[in-house]
Amino acid sequence: MSRSRSFFFNTLLSKSSDLFFAVNEDLVIEEANAASKEILEYPQEDLLGTSFLNLIEPSKQVLVEDALRQAKEEGEVKLRVNVFDQKAQGVALVLFVFWSVDDRVFYISTQKDSTQSGKEVALPSLREEDIFQYLFMESPMPLVIWDFSTLQIIECNPQALKKYGYTRDEFLALNIAQIRPEEDVPLILAATRTEEAYRNIYKRWRHLKKSGELMHVDTYTKIIDYKGRKAALVHVSDVTGKVEAEEELLKAYKKVSDYKFALDESSIVAITDASGTITYVNDNFCRVSGYSREELIGSNHRLVNSGHHDKSFFQNMWQTISRGEVWRGEVMNRNKQGSFYWVDATIVPFLNSDNKPYQYMAVRFDITAKKKSEENILIKTRLLSAIAEVIGTLFQYDNWEDALDASFGIVGRAISVDRVYYFENYFDPHTNEGFANQKLEWTASSARAQLDNPELQNLPFAVIDDFIVPLRNKQPFIAIVSSMDESVTKELLVAQDIKSILVLPIFLKGYFYGFIGFDDCKQEREWREYEISFLKTLTSKLTSAIEKRKNMLDLQDALREKSHILESIGDAFFAVDKQWTVTYWNKRAESILGVRREEILGQRLWAVFDEKEHSLFYTFYGQSLEEETPVHFEVFYDPLGVWLEVSSYPSPSGLSIYFKDISGRKNSEEKLKKMNRELALSNSELEQFAFVASHDLQEPLRMITSFLSQLEKRYGDLLDERAKKYIYFASDGAKRMRNIILDLLEFSRVGRTTEDKQMVSLEALLEEVVGLNRKIIQEKKAKVLWDEGLPELFTFKSPLRQVFQNLINNGLKYQAKGAVPIINESAKDLGSAWHFSVADNGIGIDSEYFDKIFTIFQRLHNREEYSGTGVGLAICKKIIENLDGEIWVTSELGKGSIFHLKLPK
Ligand code: ADP
Repeated sequence: MSRSRSFFFNTLLSKSSDLFFAVNEDLVIEEANAASKEILEYPQEDLLGTSFLNLIEPSKQVLVEDALRQAKEEGEVKLRVNVFDQKAQGVALVLFVFWSVDDRVFYISTQKDSTQSGKEVALPSLREEDIFQYLFMESPMPLVIWDFSTLQIIECNPQALKKYGYTRDEFLALNIAQIRPEEDVPLILAATRTEEAYRNIYKRWRHLKKSGELMHVDTYTKIIDYKGRKAALVHVSDVTGKVEAEEELLKAYKKVSDYKFALDESSIVAITDASGTITYVNDNFCRVSGYSREELIGSNHRLVNSGHHDKSFFQNMWQTISRGEVWRGEVMNRNKQGSFYWVDATIVPFLNSDNKPYQYMAVRFDITAKKKSEENILIKTRLLSAIAEVIGTLFQYDNWEDALDASFGIVGRAISVDRVYYFENYFDPHTNEGFANQKLEWTASSARAQLDNPELQNLPFAVIDDFIVPLRNKQPFIAIVSSMDESVTKELLVAQDIKSILVLPIFLKGYFYGFIGFDDCKQEREWREYEISFLKTLTSKLTSAIEKRKNMLDLQDALREKSHILESIGDAFFAVDKQWTVTYWNKRAESILGVRREEILGQRLWAVFDEKEHSLFYTFYGQSLEEETPVHFEVFYDPLGVWLEVSSYPSPSGLSIYFKDISGRKNSEEKLKKMNRELALSNSELEQFAFVASHDLQEPLRMITSFLSQLEKRYGDLLDERAKKYIYFASDGAKRMRNIILDLLEFSRVGRTTEDKQMVSLEALLEEVVGLNRKIIQEKKAKVLWDEGLPELFTFKSPLRQVFQNLINNGLKYQAKGAVPIINESAKDLGSAWHFSVADNGIGIDSEYFDKIFTIFQRLHNREEYSGTGVGLAICKKIIENLDGEIWVTSELGKGSIFHLKLPK
């Protein structure tokens, strides 16, 4: 444009004799044609870049300025003015000024003012008043003078009349209140009251045209003395267009700010730059996202990304908005606390002049509640179908563990957890201490499996008390792991990346059998009521599956155990139903009755065993079946020649019959009876003998002894030494026989005492024994000692004294020649019994004879070495055993013997 303009001036206009200018808004001459040289004696180039006003005589510069301004408003203005030439000579020219909106320049063409002649026009010599009049009337702007005291309009220029639409007479008949809208009258009246308010003041008013049209004007008022009157000279500039534009702008602005307010109130607003960096957020954004404005501004919008949507979702969004199109969609975001919120988002790209987005404004509405309810319905539907599926699965699989395993997957996916598992409990039968063992597990692909984690096997309840206690009380264990108190449980959960956990106990027949758990490793999930009830429902389904399996196992175990028992017992066993059909027949029955299982199972019992031949069995079994009572009998079974013991027990389905071959028992019973009979005989014979010996043998013996001593006394002189020796042997033998008989008598009397039990002080009893043996003790300088504090016993005194007498006597007797016997008695409290010992320092006994010496007439020495009958210890044994005690010996040859007595208290 500017090049074509220059072309225009330098070629087309170069031939014109009239002068042309192009003057910009700052009144700088941009173009002038060659006529400048001719008319103003300025070469064209000298003018370019200089102010147009420099060419105007100073007193007219304001006028020219006004004219230009007017041209800008009205398009074209004509004015007469003197233009200075290079020699500062005024050239009277008529200027035609056109404002070009497109080029933003004033095009000014000039003509020689024909009213003026000659180049050198004499300046009109005007009086000051005339100058004023001239300027006033020539001004392109409306000018009004009004009387400051009457407010009457007293003068105006043609521009004013043009603006207000009045004739001069009409206008000069008005006062200034009459060119105002009624409501502004008080304002203007108030304003005129002080002169100050009107001194050199720009003010904006509303003025009325004659047409009634309202216009906005900026007035510049100066108080002057006009023809002796105090008046106001008002320069009026119509700014209606500007004011309206401003008002429009204000309105528009107001509208926008109303929208903004509404938007801010109702939605979440953010602006990001082209790369997604947040540059603006409103309060709602901060509130919903949980981040402060400082945290958000400068961060990438990804800060609130929840990870819920896949990559392609955001790719699609970016493609749309970077193309400059609006994107709309539902997005799940995550706030600072980690909770999710759903928004309905509209993202509007703001485009630069190249149509490239330089920023994006995202307006979002929180639709979390709506989403949640949609989601809840969806989830609930999903959970319901999961329950149906699980029940189906439990039926489908034969293998219980497979069924549970498959169910875990369904449940885990339905409720979107990372892990579902089953632990079974074990209780130590001795300590009753509980342990948990992981048995089954399902894991989402994102989580780490824990089935092989050794920490989750044999996990003692004691260390995870906080976890077990609620379960044991039939309560769920629910926790957000990060907010748990420090404990072993927490450590275990953290090690498995668990963020949120829900565990439900399994009770079988009121017994804490195990538990099923659900882990969320992604978020600190708060379990909802319906989720918990869903998992409870499922757990109860799974529990009944476990129970069924357990019952089955128990049944199998019981069956196995039963058949094991039935097969392993030595008894023969068979079972019949109420129609006598044989339903069970064990191995032993096969071998005793000689009928194989295959031959008889499913057969009628009496078809195999003739009921007439077996009438006794038939009768007893029939009775047991009919009366529903057990029946036992023993019978000699002729066909096999054996004795049988038979027991028949009624069962709900018929009879269970046990029998065994008791021929062996029967035979030994018989033998035993015979032996007992013989034994009873020999015992009484022995007693008889002892009785006879005690009473009847003593008499002839005494006779033998006394006749032998008579023989020695009377015929001693007649007898030689040998005869005397024979008599001595004979009387010695009779003496010994007497001792034997006495001992034997003593022995036979044991247990036949008529004495009552009494309190016996063992110490006093030993004193007595020492008294009885005083002579021999003195002879041998022996010592008989006992421990202090020997007990008192409630017992038969004489037999006990006899025992100690015999033992101490033996201790004194069985000594090496010349040895000094030391005998010591002691007692030990065994709680329910006393253990007494009588220890000597004698010759000792070879262990080979420890038992033998307690048998009657058993001696280890001949009477030349040590006198005795061999009955003493037998008597001791009989007495002690009669008192329900025990007697035995321990000894070392050459060192001594200890006789032990154990007597119940
Ligand atoms: P007796 O003493 O009359 O021979 P006992 O029945 O009292 O009969 O003893 C049986 C045998 O046991 C004795 O002959 C003797 O050989 C042995 N005997 C008993 N007491 C002792 C003892 N204290 N030390 C060594 N041998 C003993």
